Amino acid sequence: MTDSHTTPHLSTVQLQALRQDLEEQLEQRTRQLSSLRVQEQDGSGADGTWQELIVSITTAERAIAELSQAFARLTNGEYGRCANCERAIPFERLKVRPLARTCIDCQRRREAA
Ligand SMILES: [Zn+2]
Repeated sequence: MTDSHTTPHLSTVQLQALRQDLEEQLEQRTRQLSSLRVQEQDGSGADGTWQELIVSITTAERAIAELSQAFARLTNGEYGRCANCERAIPFERLKVRPLARTCIDCQRRREAA
């Protein structure tokens, strides 16, 4: 069973495109987070915007954590495989949602639950 450590349904070119997309997202999120951190340190802004700022920071941090996990999966060959049923996630889905961890069937089942 060497199959579980490869992503045979994704070509090198496809994986490269996905990795690049993830890298761009990570860069964008990291930049966003550091600018939010500056605002946080300024302490400026009314109460309402402060709340929004905290939410934005949390969202950015979570996105960065998810992106890091995606990179780890790319490295160990788990990327592109459903975390639930272990079926291959088609490139078409990953292209739209590079962070998708489950196949469409499992996603729908989870949303319906
Ligand atoms: Zn699945």
